[in-house]
Amino acid sequence: KVSEEDILIVPKDKILGGLLPTGFDETSCLSRKESLLYNKGLQHKPSSYLISGLRRYEALHKQCGPYTELYNRTVDLMKSGQYSSDSSVCNYVIWISYSGLGNRILTLTSAFLYALLTNRVLLVDPRVNLPDLFCEPFPEVSWLLPLDFPMIDQFSSFNQKSPHSYGYMVRNNVTGNSRIPSFLYLHLAHDFDVQDKLFFCDTDQTFLHKVPWLFVKSNNYYVPALFLIPSFEQELNNLFPEKETVFHFLGRYLFHPTNSVWGLITRYHQAYLAQADEKIGIQIRVFDLGVNSKHVLDQILACTTKENLLPQVNLNEPTVNSSGKTKTISVLMTSLSPRYFKEIRSMYWENPTVTGDIVGVFQPSHEEHQQTEKLMHDRKAWAEMYLLSLTDKLVTSAWSTFGYVAYSLGGLKPWILYKFENGTVHNPPCFRAMSLEPCYHSPPYYNCKKKTESHNTVNIVPHVRHCEDNNWGLKLF
Ligand code: GDP
Repeated sequence: KVSEEDILIVPKDKILGGLLPTGFDETSCLSRKESLLYNKGLQHKPSSYLISGLRRYEALHKQCGPYTELYNRTVDLMKSGQYSSDSSVCNYVIWISYSGLGNRILTLTSAFLYALLTNRVLLVDPRVNLPDLFCEPFPEVSWLLPLDFPMIDQFSSFNQKSPHSYGYMVRNNVTGNSRIPSFLYLHLAHDFDVQDKLFFCDTDQTFLHKVPWLFVKSNNYYVPALFLIPSFEQELNNLFPEKETVFHFLGRYLFHPTNSVWGLITRYHQAYLAQADEKIGIQIRVFDLGVNSKHVLDQILACTTKENLLPQVNLNEPTVNSSGKTKTISVLMTSLSPRYFKEIRSMYWENPTVTGDIVGVFQPSHEEHQQTEKLMHDRKAWAEMYLLSLTDKLVTSAWSTFGYVAYSLGGLKPWILYKFENGTVHNPPCFRAMSLEPCYHSPPYYNCKKKTESHNTVNIVPHVRHCEDNNWGLKLF
């Protein structure tokens, strides 16, 4: 239960060990403070370098954010289309909304880290529910790109073939002439091509550094590839001495549920989770619709049994445990479908467990399919990712960014279920993740020095390795 007193004992200047800034109106975003009463706090200590970097960023954001004098001047520069070496403008990275909510959270984090590394100001595309899901993360000045921003109507149509796309310009030799454009579109989605991938090369970064407005569209967590750019290496080492904490820290810094989402989270938590001795999260994401649901169920149960996450049921002799020393376990399941949770709930109702422990199984919603454009659908998705992050032990599904956000935010090393495959139950059913980081599913396999596509990128730095759930992907360890 959350009491007024509990909230007051959180020292004002030390929210999340200094990770979060102060100076917000507390009632406008209750989760910023109250979250400490639900989660276990940070699972690692942020470096003082990261904390001072964030404070520096906030000062820059305040100077350059929407409708400041510098912002207005830089917008005018874009309208005129003229490059000017005028140093009295700000540089921006504009995050364009694209893909499911888990993906969006990961790409926003990637864009923010890029902004930190390049002294740019991050402004976000306010369309597709974003302001209804997340509180403003930076004090005083908004992170939302104003709706009267000149190019906003064109965001949806930006693609690799747009004349303003960096890849297109390289292909057509436009970057070779001396004129620097005032804005550029960067296509960093899974289907990017060789020229788009040049974004991850130092020489191209030198060019991009001069362009005031960069618009980015992606559906991938491209943070691991930023670690492969030599000129960012030192700064990244200073910011993140422990590499597996990047999303854990930046996610906790950026994403605070709005009061409406916070209501979904806290009501659910208090009704179904708070009283349990142990909370287990199970996130089920089935990408291949042809997969037999009985196999999915078998794989989930094989994992929870083998890894001792949930007690087995006693099918033979239903006995009543009289020792009285049983614990109650709340299982929070999330899935688009209700079938797995219904089966598991019935199993624990119809049979006693061998340990005598009492297992309650709950699932907040079953939305059937992705409906990103609907506000309540997105709110539920965000609330469920967050609720999963509040559990003690977490089982997630391979390849799912929804699951990545949940475990990384919570600082929980999950048990990851191998991708559900048609016709079989994967054996082993799951594995314990070694790193808290999300996986980058479609990395730019390109060797900047040799100017060739190369699959040996992972040898370049020791803390970037293939993902455990996707051997094509890259992940920080
Ligand atoms: P990914 O596709 O698993 O990588 O995750 P995304 O979050 O990017 O996209 C999937 C979208 O489908 C989510 O954002 C939700 O809109 C919806 N979705 C998938 N699984 C669930 C779930 O367990 N609960 C809810 N409420 N929505 C889900």
